[in-house]
Amino acid sequence: MFNASATQFSASPRFVDSPHQDARPQGVAVNLLVLHAISLPPGKFSMQHVEALFGGVLDVRAHPTFAALTDLRVSAHFVVDRQGAIHQFVPVDRRAWHAGVSSWQGIERCNDYAVGIEMLGDENTAFTDAQYRETARLCRALMARFPAMNKSRIVGHSDIAPGRKWDPGRQWDWTHFHRSLAHIGNFEMHVR
Ligand SMILES: [Zn+2]
Repeated sequence: MFNASATQFSASPRFVDSPHQDARPQGVAVNLLVLHAISLPPGKFSMQHVEALFGGVLDVRAHPTFAALTDLRVSAHFVVDRQGAIHQFVPVDRRAWHAGVSSWQGIERCNDYAVGIEMLGDENTAFTDAQYRETARLCRALMARFPAMNKSRIVGHSDIAPGRKWDPGRQWDWTHFHRSLAHIGNFEMHVR
């Protein structure tokens, strides 16, 4: 378990298996990272309902806005919470269901070849320094595992589904993120 007052995590992601996953198509190289933002209910940055959504057990009566999520079967490989702790829901060699109808550089169905990272956040509140740092570390760990996944292939959901998706949104500072990515020291992180 992490200590909330610690400034660094050495931790590998906490793993919670999601039923919302399947096999990637055969022969497809994993080479895209998609960053997202999520908050459930809107503006609340707790893991509780996100974990329930990805686990297929969200009580849609728990909040009026959840009615729109009825029967929605979605997941991401990872969620980075506000403290920078990383939660994993789908092994990276499997397909998570985060991108929906999407296309990048002419290749559709990004879920086939992407890893999806959700960050707890919205359009109104700045992401935390811990989120920039731990998301960057996670991206580095994934780039080491999938060599074709270079930094120009880290994109936002809004880049692969323009007009349909807004996230990670205007609060996500790509310059800050790329600076974090460039300044990561040694670390160990085991992703499934
Ligand atoms: Zn998204």
